[in-house]
This record gives sequence, structure tokens and C-alpha cells, in this order.
Amino acid sequence: MTSSRTMTQTDHEAMAGRRSLAGCPVHSLREKLRGVGLRPTRQRTSLGWLLFAKGDRHVSAEMLYEEAMRARVPVSLATVYNTLHQFTQAGLLRELAVDGAKTYFDTNPSDHHHFFIEGEDRMIDVPSDAIRVAQLPALPDGMEISRVEVIVRLKPKAG
Ligand SMILES: [Zn+2]
Repeated sequence: MTSSRTMTQTDHEAMAGRRSLAGCPVHSLREKLRGVGLRPTRQRTSLGWLLFAKGDRHVSAEMLYEEAMRARVPVSLATVYNTLHQFTQAGLLRELAVDGAKTYFDTNPSDHHHFFIEGEDRMIDVPSDAIRVAQLPALPDGMEISRVEVIVRLKPKAG
């Protein structure tokens, strides 16, 4: 206890301001960007808003670009790619390479696995404890495992 002074009007306003800002999704997005060392530019904030405001999901650069066009966010596909990679490097997204041509970005960067529905190009989360990897190969010298991600590919039952 260092001070016993009563709160001034300004203190009250400052606190009320903080409360309303804390509840503001755009404000918390800017804080999230700053927290990982990214300057919250207009483009990062707009794309981050599109990415993170809809809960956990898996989006490709093309999907996010289309969403940005629909939302009238003026960005190029190249900017969308760059921003997704910056977010990934900062740990806000996880990159999922499903096959050579297709990369998805997961807005949930915590450890988990995936179902991939072939033909629909859709990914569904699988909790990390739902899959147990029983055997892994011997590792090359000087290497350790960073993480193990399993993609279980699904297709409609035949017949
Ligand atoms: Zn996921």
C-alpha cells in the first residue's frame, strides 16, 4: 500500500476507458499483434479481424483473400500471403501443409491433429490426446522432434 489518495474523476474515466477497450475485439486484436512484436497496421488488423473473429478455423490464403474482397478490405493476394506467414512466424497461426499445393493456416496454434475430408478440402480438429503415435523412426544425429502432427484423410464410404 503506497498511497491512500481517493480516486479522482480522471482515474474513474481512465478505468472505465480501459474496461470498454478491454472488451473491444479490435483493441484486443491490436494488443495481440503488439504482444508478438507485430505493428498493428491497418492491413494486419483487418486481416487479423477476418481470421480470428470466427473462432478456430482453417483457411487458405485464397479463402482469406476472397473474404477480404467481400468485406471490401483493399489488399492484394501477395499481402494476404505475407501477412499469413508473418502471423505464422509470430506463433498466432499454424501452417498445415496438406499436400504439395495446398496450405492451410490454423487459427488455433496449440497442439492438435486433423481430419482432412478429401474432395471437400475441409479440415476438422482432432484433440491431441485422441491419437497416440506408437512408434517413431530413429532420428538423424543432432535432431530432436519439434512436434508430431497427424492428418487423417477421409473420403465418403464406398457404395
Ligand atoms: Zn486445427
